[in-house]
Amino acid sequence: MPELPEVETAVRSLRDPLVGRTIQSAIFPADPGRMTNLDAAHFAARIAGQRVERIERRAKYLIFVLSTDTLIVHLKMTGHLYVLPPTAESPFDRWVRVRFLLENGQELRFSDTRKFGRVLLVSDPAEILPKLGPEPLEDDFTPDVFRERLKRRKGALKALLLDQSFVAGVGNIYADEALHIARLHPLREASSLSKTEADRLYTGIREALADGVRFQGASVSTYRKPDGTRGEAQQQLRVYRELGNLDKPCPDCGGPITKIFFGGRGTHFCLNCQPVKPRYMAKRTIRPATATKTTKSKAKSVSKKRSVTNGTRT
Ligand SMILES: [Zn+2]
Repeated sequence: MPELPEVETAVRSLRDPLVGRTIQSAIFPADPGRMTNLDAAHFAARIAGQRVERIERRAKYLIFVLSTDTLIVHLKMTGHLYVLPPTAESPFDRWVRVRFLLENGQELRFSDTRKFGRVLLVSDPAEILPKLGPEPLEDDFTPDVFRERLKRRKGALKALLLDQSFVAGVGNIYADEALHIARLHPLREASSLSKTEADRLYTGIREALADGVRFQGASVSTYRKPDGTRGEAQQQLRVYRELGNLDKPCPDCGGPITKIFFGGRGTHFCLNCQPVKPRYMAKRTIRPATATKTTKSKAKSVSKKRSVTNGTRT
């Protein structure tokens, strides 16, 4: 799923072709279903004639501020936004869910293979956006602000970083990266961090996301930039590995990368750099990434501490 760096990259590259342009119409090749908050006819009638004033990002949402309303897009798993002349074709066209025709003859298209993306037209974004934590790359997100927010939280660090109401925009990839930079085990109990450890985590979050933005997003899975090319952040990733690519060692110590499933998400870390601290681990059972149908029952019987310590490498 695109995270803060991927969405920020999309926002930055869509500004040039879109800001100042007027949307003439919206065409839905099929019933948008749950993708939109309005039915297709109502959506198209309401957006027609509105100018794109500016494009911003909040967490993983693209926010198009129009002359009257706000268009909010969440790419979810496989959403992709791109601008082309109406006659130009793109490999993404196969999954186009809506086309916005602009007054200059160009088109903004939204394609989405998996159909989890959302395209919402509202008069006030507050109507629709969930409760979101601070933007981690903004100047007002200071170590003090971070420690204060951390004080009230309990549970495993990995789960906390994925919670959008804690810090906005971090997803599975950058949570693993941030924890590696911070040298903290993903299953460390959030309330057990010392001040130094909290400061390391703060730095880890900011560094991981800033690197992601600098390298224009990580093209793991299906993510591509609006122009269809790949980002370069995937080449810089420290511990996050696409399936079957666990051979690349830890960049800091050369040790193996461990992968476990936590909350259904693949979680990557280095046991040398992010050691288990038995007294300070979150109380939650985990499943090693190697657990298959035949080994599941065996994996279940492995105690939490043991599976954390020996998290199997595949
Ligand atoms: Zn390491």
